[in-house]
Amino acid sequence: MADIIKNKNYTVRITDYTDEGLGVGKDEESFLTLFVKDTAIGDKVEAKVLKAKKTYGYAKMISLMEASPDRKDPGCAVFDKCGGCQLRHISYEAQLTWKEKRVADVLERVGGLKAGEDFKMLPIIGMENPLRYRNKAQYPVGIKDRKAVTGFFAERSHRVIPTEDCLIEHAQNASILETIRRYLNERKVPVYDEETHDGLVRHVLIRTAFSSGDIMVCLVLNCDEGDEREFKILDGLADELKKNENIKSFVYNFNNKKTNVIMGRTEKTVFGDHFITEYIGDVGFHISPGSFFQVNPVQTKVLYEKACEYAGLTGKETVWDLYCGIGTISLFLSGKAGHVYGVEVYGQAVENAKENAKINNIDNATFICSKAEDIRIGKDLPAPDVILVDPPRKGCDAKLLETIAEASPRRLVYVSCNPATLARDVKVLTEAGFVLKEVQPVDMFPETTGVETVALLSGPQATPG
Ligand code: SAH
Repeated sequence: MADIIKNKNYTVRITDYTDEGLGVGKDEESFLTLFVKDTAIGDKVEAKVLKAKKTYGYAKMISLMEASPDRKDPGCAVFDKCGGCQLRHISYEAQLTWKEKRVADVLERVGGLKAGEDFKMLPIIGMENPLRYRNKAQYPVGIKDRKAVTGFFAERSHRVIPTEDCLIEHAQNASILETIRRYLNERKVPVYDEETHDGLVRHVLIRTAFSSGDIMVCLVLNCDEGDEREFKILDGLADELKKNENIKSFVYNFNNKKTNVIMGRTEKTVFGDHFITEYIGDVGFHISPGSFFQVNPVQTKVLYEKACEYAGLTGKETVWDLYCGIGTISLFLSGKAGHVYGVEVYGQAVENAKENAKINNIDNATFICSKAEDIRIGKDLPAPDVILVDPPRKGCDAKLLETIAEASPRRLVYVSCNPATLARDVKVLTEAGFVLKEVQPVDMFPETTGVETVALLSGPQATPG
């Protein structure tokens, strides 16, 4: 087989996308794989190779020979520079079709199980209105033409690209940012400069509780909590923000480190509470500036309802919720379970989970700070009837899969943000006697390549059916 040659043009039909949203296709003659930016499944393109590896290459589209019927106008002025949304140039319907197929394909290829034959594959649940779905946004603050600007960092750089609005963020963010920029410019507030580590205002964080419309604004400042003289210049901003009645919480976060990490460790509440409250179903959650919380509350409810249905609870069960974060799923399930045990490695999230249990008067949920793979059945936790896992992208640890097999729950509910590791883990679990019953993809991240899936497996001891 010939090698890919740099600077040579190839003719490629795009058949798939990578996680980063690059189009993937094979050269018509050599069948070597090329990754081509800004293409859509169905496109036929002429592409010039910029980077050649032995059996694949990264190429740039030179001409669009045949346009995919899935293409749409991205409708965003900074689509090509931002990288936040990778699929804005294809129709929402085509995005959903691709996501569903991606889950089914990988379960077959890696998991060895065929949708429709070995398990029931439900059609992906998309959003009725896939716009303005995010409840959290972080905007770097920079300088352009001597004016404070907000936006996002250009790809592989920390230059701020000024942006007025973002269509997946909450509609009110644009006017809040405008208020902040106007204040910074009128008062000549020094804006943070990464190179020199000078200046005060680094980032603006805006979080919204969709259930109430309550908004939290947090400014990340390059100083210490004790440096009051430095941030006194911001004193008048609170009154400006209060003009927007939905802003219920205004917080300074202090981060004077030379780091890419956005948030610092200490905070000061300027007005309102240090948190806003979001409801998923009947359960309320306090969200502070640094709290982890699912970014799409509408689809989170859809996902959790499916997880709850799959858990098949009758009020008596012992449930493990592994990788529980701030306890969102645990608390959502607790009303239907005997007792839920949440396990999470990040101590702060465990504290948030305990607090969330308290504010909802839930007393049948216990939270434990531990690695999920270190849990011992009967020692750390009582034997479970149902196990739910919601691991990060890398999937479940091999040791945890052994524990799950040993625990032999009646049902295992697997919530996954990465179909590839879901399929890998399902293979291990089916070899241990679990049976994959049903798979439900849910679109939590429209316009991006993100795919969320919830899968039901029955345990080795479960009666068939
Ligand atoms: N179920 C939660 C959060 C899922 S995100 C929700 O729906 O909101 C995955 C979580 O797993 C994160 O909170 C992360 O801190 C945690 N985590 C990562 N590795 C872990 C491990 N080895 N053991 C336990 N938790 C882990």
